Amino acid sequence: MGEKTKIEWTDATWNPIRGCSRVSEGCRNCYAESIAARFSGTGRPYEGLAEFKGGDARWTGEVRLIEKHLEDPLHWKEPQRIFVNSMSDLFHPGVKLEWLADIFGVMARAPQHTYQILTKRPDRMLDALRAGSVPDVALAFEQTYGQSWPPANWWFGVSVEDQGTANRLLPILARCPAAVRFVSYEPAIGPVDFFAAMDCNLAAVAEFDWIICGGESCPHARPMDPAWPRSVRNLCSDLGIPFFMKQMGGQCGHNDVPIPEDLAIKEFPQGLNG
Ligand code: SF4
Repeated sequence: MGEKTKIEWTDATWNPIRGCSRVSEGCRNCYAESIAARFSGTGRPYEGLAEFKGGDARWTGEVRLIEKHLEDPLHWKEPQRIFVNSMSDLFHPGVKLEWLADIFGVMARAPQHTYQILTKRPDRMLDALRAGSVPDVALAFEQTYGQSWPPANWWFGVSVEDQGTANRLLPILARCPAAVRFVSYEPAIGPVDFFAAMDCNLAAVAEFDWIICGGESCPHARPMDPAWPRSVRNLCSDLGIPFFMKQMGGQCGHNDVPIPEDLAIKEFPQGLNG
């Protein structure tokens, strides 16, 4: 088995990269950053990658390949959905191209799994996918691994939190040549109109294969208006896009808001079950 997780839309997490830096408001209460800061002492797993500044956790901006975890999926025989880099961003600018190639190589060599790659930096994701789409690179990939580029079991997604991030990131995701393109609208800190973000082109919105919604859940959580996920649920229902309501959010444990019955939908793409 892979590394267990409470994230319901995946089975396991795999973190071959550690370290990140904030890129938008959605990162303000980044859970990975606080965990990293807690384990950043000398000899600890996140040494040099995060620290406490005035009591607040902060990434240092350094990013590192964790060699001992690079090949983890090769050892997990049972097929599972794997969230790649739940504690970082695979397309952070500090992730070297050769590290990306190593990680993609491991994914290709463990094709029994489904890989869920989620980023707040889709420009670099698009570059990586396009580099692979250049005929000789794609051919080399096919000849080495016997799989077409990009493999259908690699799902690519973006993380958005409000209309501004949706406007910037969704059109880039739409251009990614992936079998499954997904959107994580979490933490939802403002409403998102997917139709507006895609220049009022409904056919372009219908190209997304899965939308996950979630309110922020942490001690300083910013509240989500239930009207925001409801409008996304309606859009998904109209367009036949699988919808996954992860959580309403709240200030962790004691204050988390239960999911209302009409939003309690947990669908997966391609007819897959949870
Ligand atoms: S991109 Fe993700 S991991 Fe990186 S700081 Fe933002 S929320 Fe945290």
